[in-house]
Amino acid sequence: MNCILEAQDLCIHYNKTPILWDVSFKVPKHHMTAIVGPNGAGKSTLLKASLQIIKPFSGSISFGRCNSDNHIAYVPQKESIDWDFPVSALDVVLMGRYGRLKYFQRVKAADKEAAMQALQQVGMASYSSRQINQLSGGQQQRLFIARALVQKPDVLLLDEPFSGIDMATEKLLIELFIKLKNEGKSIFIVHHDLTTLDQYFDWVILINTRLIGCGPVKEVMTQENIQKAYGNNLSLFEEAHHLSKKQAEGYIS
Ligand code: ADP
Repeated sequence: MNCILEAQDLCIHYNKTPILWDVSFKVPKHHMTAIVGPNGAGKSTLLKASLQIIKPFSGSISFGRCNSDNHIAYVPQKESIDWDFPVSALDVVLMGRYGRLKYFQRVKAADKEAAMQALQQVGMASYSSRQINQLSGGQQQRLFIARALVQKPDVLLLDEPFSGIDMATEKLLIELFIKLKNEGKSIFIVHHDLTTLDQYFDWVILINTRLIGCGPVKEVMTQENIQKAYGNNLSLFEEAHHLSKKQAEGYIS
């Protein structure tokens, strides 16, 4: 397998409590990969460990062993972003090119053009001069995705990018991510909605402290594996899955 991310016997503890336990998998390049599991399963921890933000207790996880030239961009959960500074939407995206902009720093036309293009990609071009604290939650989310896109990453990691955004924006973003994947990028998304897994993703990592499965969505998301990961919440999943199928077939709106 031409892999992009590999975990080997990965164990992570917080205060001696195991959060990830003996997790091993390989993910091939150029896939849209969902990281799925119940709340507290260790999904965000897995992403942070892959970026070396969190150090494993034992074992390893890295993009480096697969290909050391990969350029990685990360969009954390919205709540973990500090909004308390007065900059415009365009400035935030430009930070993806420059790091933190200094007040005397001149912005090159090519960088501004790239930032505007990234804003356009997420449907935010008309908000470029708006102060970030005057944007809605969904708009802020899109802005941080634009900041990641302007870095022209080979690998894009997103932690719950669809939380707090409407369906139309979710559709716009997923079409954008699929386009990026088709251009050869590798995309990892912590995702909650199991009913859209099949439609959005071609690969999945299913975890709940331990790895339940890693592979093509249809192979991993079996009843048995979902039961292992979600336990008693399975019935909720089945109900949601049933409703979404009915909706897709046009029985309900
Ligand atoms: P998920 O993204 O699947 O909801 P997380 O990776 O955020 O799960 O968290 C996994 C577990 O680790 C949770 O029980 C959470 O409370 C705990 N946890 C996360 N971050 C910390 C931390 N910095 N210190 C202690 N425990 C943490």
